[in-house]
Amino acid sequence: MISVHNLNKKFGSLEVLKSIDLDFQLGKSFALIGPNGSGKTTLIKCILGMVMADSGVIKVDNENINGQWLYRDKIGYMPQIGRYPDNMKIGQLFDMIRDLRKKESVDDELITEFNLQSMYDKRMHTLSGGTRQKVSAALAFLFDAPIMILDEPTAGLDPLAVEVLKSKIRKEKNDKRLFLITSHIMSDLDELSSDVVYLEEGVICYNDTIAKIKSETGEEKFGKAIAAMMRRNRADVA
Ligand code: ADP
Ligand code: MG
Repeated sequence: MISVHNLNKKFGSLEVLKSIDLDFQLGKSFALIGPNGSGKTTLIKCILGMVMADSGVIKVDNENINGQWLYRDKIGYMPQIGRYPDNMKIGQLFDMIRDLRKKESVDDELITEFNLQSMYDKRMHTLSGGTRQKVSAALAFLFDAPIMILDEPTAGLDPLAVEVLKSKIRKEKNDKRLFLITSHIMSDLDELSSDVVYLEEGVICYNDTIAKIKSETGEEKFGKAIAAMMRRNRADVA
């Protein structure tokens, strides 16, 4: 569904993505993890066409995305930091996005679950970070897109909202959808993902199924398994 081939990106002299090769298939959910600054958001923005890579090819549904924009209709995106017009009310924002996408079927379950209707009259600049995240999450799920890209979806959410969002993700995962979820908190993605891509300083250090990483390391918990695998990798290099 999404393929990335030999992708490179620099910001000035800083190499943020180095020869990235990836394949994301429908029916799977990928945890894209790595320390802060490892290049996760940049990779996602390249896939969305919001950042131009210096070299490499990204294909969505076998089509090179270079110069294209219609493919974005297939993507539901929750940004790490949602930026919205300051003076717009929450209700107006949802109306506007619905008008822009002109899609019949909508999934407004998260609007209800997060009780956003009760805040429709609040202006975006008055919202707390957590409420802004809830709006971003609800917008990402609104159009039943086959590709769901969630960038640090749980950051800034209260514990209850984290559980609401996690169960929504679990519920929506199916063999016709692809989820790509980033986090720097490994344990956040336990149970949500089938596969893991570990990025460090713009290099893919690990890319395999979570079941395999757990069995290889003998660790039951995702976070512990990743940590054990990283220690092993470092020991191999040293
Ligand atoms: P992550 O999402 O893994 O935390 P990012 O992709 O946001 O990492 O950032 C990777 C690196 O690229 C960081 O060092 C960050 O400061 C830098 N970076 C990201 N966007 C820009 C930009 N627009 N201009 C300059 N540097 C950037
Ligand atoms: Mg990021």
